[in-house]
Amino acid sequence: MWNFNRGPSIPLSREVSAPAGPPNCLFATRHLPLTVAVMKTDSHFDVLIVGAGLSGVGAAYHLQKRLPGKSYAILEGREALGGTWDLFRYPGVRSDSDMYTLGYSFKPWKDAKAIADGPAILEYVRETAAENGIDRHIRFQHRVTSANWSTPDAWWTVTVERGDTGETVYLTCGFLFVCSGYYRYEAGYTPDFPGASTFKGRIVHPQKWTPDIDHVDKTVIVIGSGATAVTIVPEVARTARHVTMLQRSPTYVVSRPAQDPVANWLRRNLPSKMAYTLTRAKNVLLQMYFYRRARAKPEDTKAALIHMAQKELGPDYDVGTHFTPRYNPWDQRLCLVPDSDLFKSIREGRAAVVTDHIETFTATGIRTRSGRELPADIVVTATGLDLLFLGGMEISVDGAKTDMGKVLTYKGMMYEGVPNLVSVFGYTNASWTLKCDLTCEYVCRLLKHMDRTGAKQATPRNSDPTIGEEPWLDFSSGYVQRTVGRFPRQGSRKPWKLHQNYALDIMSLRYGAVDDPAMEFKGKA
Ligand SMILES: Cc1cc2nc3c(=O)[nH]c(=O)nc-3n(C[C@H](O)[C@H](O)[C@H](O)COP(=O)(O)OP(=O)(O)OC[C@H]3O[C@@H](n4cnc5c(N)ncnc54)[C@H](O)[C@@H]3O)c2cc1C
Repeated sequence: MWNFNRGPSIPLSREVSAPAGPPNCLFATRHLPLTVAVMKTDSHFDVLIVGAGLSGVGAAYHLQKRLPGKSYAILEGREALGGTWDLFRYPGVRSDSDMYTLGYSFKPWKDAKAIADGPAILEYVRETAAENGIDRHIRFQHRVTSANWSTPDAWWTVTVERGDTGETVYLTCGFLFVCSGYYRYEAGYTPDFPGASTFKGRIVHPQKWTPDIDHVDKTVIVIGSGATAVTIVPEVARTARHVTMLQRSPTYVVSRPAQDPVANWLRRNLPSKMAYTLTRAKNVLLQMYFYRRARAKPEDTKAALIHMAQKELGPDYDVGTHFTPRYNPWDQRLCLVPDSDLFKSIREGRAAVVTDHIETFTATGIRTRSGRELPADIVVTATGLDLLFLGGMEISVDGAKTDMGKVLTYKGMMYEGVPNLVSVFGYTNASWTLKCDLTCEYVCRLLKHMDRTGAKQATPRNSDPTIGEEPWLDFSSGYVQRTVGRFPRQGSRKPWKLHQNYALDIMSLRYGAVDDPAMEFKGKA
């Protein structure tokens, strides 16, 4: 379905040669190949946002609230908004952090459930877009494939593949705000399992779950032990004949109440915004406290987490094999389960955990390395996401391609040598939106500063040879290790250090000087 924005603030597409282009429109073609110069659709915006997920909609809100005069559009590759919360449709899909911190700072989360279901989160994003007129700015089926910064013009030319018409269109903007999430939408990660083609049942990756998949009274194997696996297993186990969670190695699993009684009490007794702000602050502080404690005293934390699992599953359960990871807490993300649902389904015999390696798929299921035959009608490969930086966009500056795997990140959201581009990337140890909101605030401060000073170009530059380089993420998880080399590097010191720390980011992104020495500002050439 074609959902072209008809809102008043977005100029309609037009040919480059049309007389009514924005003043700079024709100059843009100077830096493009001749074929491009005669091709379709140029429109110019102050800001282009890539992606209409939780972050893109949040970015648009901050932009129009703090800088109401700026023109902007959101380019969304899919035909719907909501990103993650529209894409994932597997049974039980939900958040694994609380919605008081995963929700926006500006829009209270009002549901009783703190650990929320996917459809409720999607509705929250849709509501935000609708009640703020953001949906009118979205150009659906506009997948951005590349962006080239022109220093003489001081703008980006963004190449867009339109999903509905198959056309390639070109848009220009003064500032590019990339809210494309962190993984490939087309497909998740699935290892090559030996014998998979001989299996007579159905194999499905959670990212490709469709409503026709009927697991009622079926025998199901879920491969994996991450957040997705621990979500699917108890949900499917409600109606399946039996579910086996087949994991190569265990993960820390922690139960928390789906509802936050303090939050619900505050909401009943205080104005909604005040209650939300208080609960958000409480949860941020608690999360930071538990994270710091886990990193400072890993052995104590490990013992406490394993003890909790043992208590859930009873004294005879082999927690040592199935719930005792080889790594320390927060070397990888902890898995949160609401109201002990995973443990309950194991206790009741509806689900079981097998910790073993896959030898091969067979016609009727999976044989493990230790020789166990696990029967299955359906195998769910909850084997992870395929991480993708900047939504797969190719970035160049004045025609020279930037290898994003080699540049340093500036404050975890801009990139060395790349002007006027910010991307959103959330925390590994806290809710994504906390960083997203701060990043949006920073973008608005930066744009205001540039307007005030007449600067057209803001480029992070590192002139300090003593800055060391480290990987973008220090998680040991397979999905991070497989792809982290394609992500930018972080530096050993600020402003090149990527903090996984909300308090430090408040100081850096909300209060830190925008014109710090590592940021080079230039007027239009
Ligand atoms: C199942 C699941 C559960 C999660 N639960 C939590 C949680 O509880 N807490 C938490 O903090 N995080 C969670 N996350 C991480 C989650 O992705 C983020 O919290 C958040 O939804 C990210 O929002 P986003 O808008 O940045 O990215 P996304 O939701 O991924 O949206 C990105 C949008 O950009 C579009 N896009 C991408 N590339 C392009 C391109 N080149 N051109 C045009 N459009 C493009 C996509 O189509 C998509 O609509 C979860 C992730 C998954 C998969």
